[in-house]
Amino acid sequence: MSTPTTPALDLFLDTNLPHYIDETARLCAIPSISAHRTDAARCAQAVADLLTRHGFDVQVLPTPGNPVVVGRLQGRSPRTLLFYNHYDVQPVDPLNLWTSPPFEPVVRDGALYARGAKDDKGELLARLAAVDAVRAAHDGQSPCGVTFVVEGEEEIGSPHIAQFVRDHLDLLASHGAIWEEGQINADGQPLLTLGRRGILYVQLEAQAMTRDAHSGSAHILPNAAWRLLYALHSLRAPDGRILIHGFYDHVQPPSPLDLELFAAEPSNEARLRDEYGVTDFVDGLSGVALKQAVFNPTCNIAGLTAGYQADGMKTVIPARATAKVDFRLVPDQDPDDILEKLRRHLDEHGFEDIRIQRLGAMWPARAPADDPLVRLTVRTGEDVYGKPSVLTPLTGGSSPVYAFARPLGIPVVSPGVGYPGSRTHAPDEHVRLDHFLLAARHIARILEGFGDL
Ligand SMILES: [Zn+2]
Repeated sequence: MSTPTTPALDLFLDTNLPHYIDETARLCAIPSISAHRTDAARCAQAVADLLTRHGFDVQVLPTPGNPVVVGRLQGRSPRTLLFYNHYDVQPVDPLNLWTSPPFEPVVRDGALYARGAKDDKGELLARLAAVDAVRAAHDGQSPCGVTFVVEGEEEIGSPHIAQFVRDHLDLLASHGAIWEEGQINADGQPLLTLGRRGILYVQLEAQAMTRDAHSGSAHILPNAAWRLLYALHSLRAPDGRILIHGFYDHVQPPSPLDLELFAAEPSNEARLRDEYGVTDFVDGLSGVALKQAVFNPTCNIAGLTAGYQADGMKTVIPARATAKVDFRLVPDQDPDDILEKLRRHLDEHGFEDIRIQRLGAMWPARAPADDPLVRLTVRTGEDVYGKPSVLTPLTGGSSPVYAFARPLGIPVVSPGVGYPGSRTHAPDEHVRLDHFLLAARHIARILEGFGDL
């Protein structure tokens, strides 16, 4: 999808690449490791200064943790594209496996090496380069509004971002978002994940007695392990179907377009069998049904603890038993609703005594495969990379994408600077300069088209 200004965009990015790599390196020199609580304020200020220098209206806003930097730029169109990024990075150990020190950025063999070079400071600068390119090609004015949200706690699980978005709905109002990171696959095709599942994580606890007892009394005393097992057994049928009343009420099936994408996707069945040494999948799934099964929500026992498990025998009746259970949820299930239904299910089945502790929750989020922003991202991706994107309707895991997608009601896509060898979170993390340039070209084309969607 080339436009009359495409040559100008690409020329700008080619010419100014060294400048943006230099800006990336400067940010990477700040050791903003969120897990160690170092340099967050300094890095937030550096990002604020950077965005201000590039013409953004910037605020550094507090959270109960590290501050969030918000930069806004008016555009010709009233439509606004939001970039979500983060200025914090992962710890660097083991330090001896780095070829050069992680916070002394260096370019070698066509790549910038440093902690954060890819995740996520390189992504941030590639986007800023794209914004500058479209402004330069349009007499200084961006074709659409642009809002950067740059947080400082992504690498420790974004504990405050969902509340931050809910507290700043007017400031962050936008019409689409680009997620913090993206990558191409080994064949150079852009990867585009359209949806993530949600999760409800709970601990279930049975307390049958005040203390453990001699198993010689098992004919009269209750056993917490059996109690918990019966409760767990009531939750799920052997074929994987969840037996909680109303559990499937809000489940959206895959669309016809999703089904087409699954059918086109190469099968990973043999690899999975090999990797995990399994002969059969859940409910005998295979072929295209195995791929589509990601649209089935799950009830998974992540851990189970009770009684005596060390060497030899101990004849004991456990007083207490616990299980960690996660439910992976699909659009449009709501973890709070599922938690209520779980409580009701246990009560109705005579398990009022089983305690539920809510340990965490994330909501599912998905952009439809025919959403205009998705189509624009695919079209412009093909123009830049010369290859079709690989679209994944839904992945099995969860992510805080929902924190933006739900309250703002926007589609979220994820083009970016990565490739399978980026070594994010590992020693020798790097961003290749050619990939940085391609990602900036891609984002610039998305910015050009977004105002008129
Ligand atoms: Zn990361």
